[in-house]
Amino acid sequence: MNKLIIISGPSGAGKGTVVKELLKIYEENKDSVYLSISATTRDIREGEVDGVSYYFIKEEEFLSKIKEGDFLEYNQYGTGKYYGTLKSKVLEHLKTGDVILEIDINGYKQVMNNYQGALGIFIAPPSIEELENRLRGRGTETEENIKKRLETAKSELENKDIYKYIVVNEDNKSREAAEEIYKIIKNN
Ligand code: 5GP
Repeated sequence: MNKLIIISGPSGAGKGTVVKELLKIYEENKDSVYLSISATTRDIREGEVDGVSYYFIKEEEFLSKIKEGDFLEYNQYGTGKYYGTLKSKVLEHLKTGDVILEIDINGYKQVMNNYQGALGIFIAPPSIEELENRLRGRGTETEENIKKRLETAKSELENKDIYKYIVVNEDNKSREAAEEIYKIIKNN
């Protein structure tokens, strides 16, 4: 049976890098997987591509998609921006392989209510200090946004026990974290 996997973790935990490694492991195993592309109203960052990193849309369009019931889940994040998973894409790709959602804790709760059998994995940073270093090291956020992201991160870390599995992403060990996650998925 193909699985719906939810990967969460605070901004700066290194989720993006771990998920990239995880996709490589799927490929090495000739295993089929789709990484869901979310819609968001936040600004595009340097290096990001519309339709690859996210579907970057205007708030008006996002609100109309909420009305139409197009989202499997959505959330207004700590920064005030909206993020959501498009239901149709997820259901279509589940026919041919596993589907990974990289979403926040609010989205996770919604999916667990709406979809039976979804598997939740939380990626944690080694420490809050390390998380702050990583967030600042990115150099892509304003000071105000960094503060909001840190606040959200702290509350996410306090709630991590609602996930079935917690994987710590140690510095420079994203391959190991991804291997651990792949094993968890295949053993479930
Ligand atoms: P970022 O702005 O750093 O790309 O993402 C901020 C947060 O939004 C991260 O915790 C990320 O996992 C979460 N996020 C990304 N896409 C979605 C989504 O479709 N739904 C929800 N609920 N959260 C999302």
